[in-house]
Amino acid sequence: MKRDRFAELLRVVMASAPEEIDCDQFLERVAAFLESVGPDGEVPPDLRAVAQHLEVCPECKEELDALLELHRGES
Ligand SMILES: [Zn+2]
Repeated sequence: MKRDRFAELLRVVMASAPEEIDCDQFLERVAAFLESVGPDGEVPPDLRAVAQHLEVCPECKEELDALLELHRGES
């Protein structure tokens, strides 16, 4: 990969992901995330980092799936 191509790629990634969160921050926000996601699966802008973390962290995705199961059981 050429250097300028890489720089361009990095710029695009940084622009689309202004904020990256780790697993602790994910867990802090996951409740708000569950409450805020619309029925059509739309994610509010301030919680995009949470959705983005799911893309890169299978462990937290599993955690969320477990939480969703719990929610379904309650209703
Ligand atoms: Zn994680």
